[in-house]
Amino acid sequence: MADKYDIIVIGSGPGGYVAAIRAAQLGMKVACVEGWLDEKDQQVLGGTCLNVGCIPSKALLEISHKYEEAKHGFEHQGLIAGNLDVDVPKMMAHKNGIVKNLTGGIAGLFKANGVKSITGWGTVLSKKQVSVKDKDDKETIYEAENIIIATGSRPIEIPPAKLDNDRIVDSTGALEFDEVPKRLGVIGAGIIGLELGSVWNRLGSEVTVLEAQDKFLPTVDQTIAKDGLKHFTKQGLEIKLKARVTHTEVKRNLVYVTYEDADGKEQQFKCDRLIVSVGRTPNSEKLFSSDSGVNLDERGFVFVDDDCLTSVPGIYAIGDVVRGPMLAHKASEEGIAVADRIAGEKTEVNYDCIPNVIYTHPELAWVGQTEEELKAEGEPYKVGTFSMAANGRAMAANATEGLVKVIAHEKTDRILGVHIVSHQASEMIAQAVIAMEFGASAEDLALTCFAHPTLSESLHEAAMNVDGKAIHKANRRKKK
Ligand code: FAD
Ligand code: NAD
Repeated sequence: MADKYDIIVIGSGPGGYVAAIRAAQLGMKVACVEGWLDEKDQQVLGGTCLNVGCIPSKALLEISHKYEEAKHGFEHQGLIAGNLDVDVPKMMAHKNGIVKNLTGGIAGLFKANGVKSITGWGTVLSKKQVSVKDKDDKETIYEAENIIIATGSRPIEIPPAKLDNDRIVDSTGALEFDEVPKRLGVIGAGIIGLELGSVWNRLGSEVTVLEAQDKFLPTVDQTIAKDGLKHFTKQGLEIKLKARVTHTEVKRNLVYVTYEDADGKEQQFKCDRLIVSVGRTPNSEKLFSSDSGVNLDERGFVFVDDDCLTSVPGIYAIGDVVRGPMLAHKASEEGIAVADRIAGEKTEVNYDCIPNVIYTHPELAWVGQTEEELKAEGEPYKVGTFSMAANGRAMAANATEGLVKVIAHEKTDRILGVHIVSHQASEMIAQAVIAMEFGASAEDLALTCFAHPTLSESLHEAAMNVDGKAIHKANRRKKK
């Protein structure tokens, strides 16, 4: 007889492993199926995020930022760094150590919380059965009361830039270069293009980024997108908008990239490595037998309702494989909510309060609606901004680039969006998320006491400035 579980989770990324742990903590019998194997055929837990996404990219961003600062920012602050150099293999070993530490941690958490880890690729059959095939194609069938699909996503490939995993790579390859490329090409000025383009630019590559759209970060509030573009360009990222790649060819270890520029003219450049980062697509093929009853949408995402329930009662899907932003924390929130829901609790994910961060320097971080969205909706709003250049802590940190923008409803003063360009904007944005979760007004933030000196004081000032009351700004009113 097949082993039966209260919940079988398919996929062990930040959606799947978090859902499995929460469900087990709630007393359910839980198994998590993961097919990823390392070179020694050992199961790899943690998904994209821990292995080839958030964590390794942030490790390289932190290291390369330190290098860049020591190289170009220290002298101005009276520090002498001497002969600074980069040891790429050592840097990669450090990054791999962090990944190993964290993925090993998940195995430990599974054990400690009683989650059964099953190695192999899962397929959802009818009647809530799950088939798992191991590396030798040996099949085992399991049964479950509930199934949570958390199979994530993978990079999109485009025909004019076929990956060879040496010179033309996706984000995974770009986290593994064995030396700093002299010239680096990037296709796509999205989050991955900017983060990984920044890593290698800081370490010395000449970076050219080709972006198909005519606007930089079109879905981001344009005040912070424009400010970000200014800083990235100053740092040396050559970002070409409305540039359509038509052909690539690798000759003698060089990649020749042909593209159509903004004026429709054919152009070519050569680089040592090319990163293709044009978005990600859900892992949903071969995941369901034809009689499973689970529906996909027209883009291959598993179709779910607001509660992450698929078209089959008892089968849920979360994370990158369903609609919404492809973010680790969104996947984890959905995982917790679904586990709680199965346990009979009433839960909800507030999709209006999911923070976004681009971990460049300065970082871009935001939550809620953009000014452009509010304008299009005809919603009345007011805006308060404050520049990081007027923040004492930013000066002390030699990081005065950027600004904070708070958008509030014109009539109710409720905060509708917060948009930040700053050193450590990723930490600052949490305060805005909390404020919005509690339905705060700009005045609530303005009346809150912030520690001095902190970067967060700029959020305080921007909130005060929604009503023209920032202190460290010319704000004198006429006497009534
Ligand atoms: P995944 O993490 O993709 O995990 C899915 C897992 O399911 C994988 O381990 C896969 O092997 C397994 N699987 C798939 N199919 C099957 C099957 N049939 N049977 C068994 N197992 C299966 N997000 C952030 O929030 N912050 C960041 O800073 C950030 N940085 C990123 C940097 C890079 C370079 C990349 C590529 C992504 C980054 N992301 C970041 C996005 C983040 O990694 C994803 O949003 C997140 O990993 C999605 O989690 P998930 O659990 O849905 O899927
Ligand atoms: P993205 O959607 O952020 O950016 C892709 C960019 O490529 C877009 O600007 C798009 O216009 C452009 N593009 C698409 N086709 C193109 C073409 N043929 N030629 C030139 N440009 C083209 O996708 P991404 O950067 O690949 O990242 C994938 C996902 O991973 C993101 O959606 C994000 O959710 C997640 N991620 C998050 C973080 C983070 O939270 N810090 C970091 C990395 C990745």
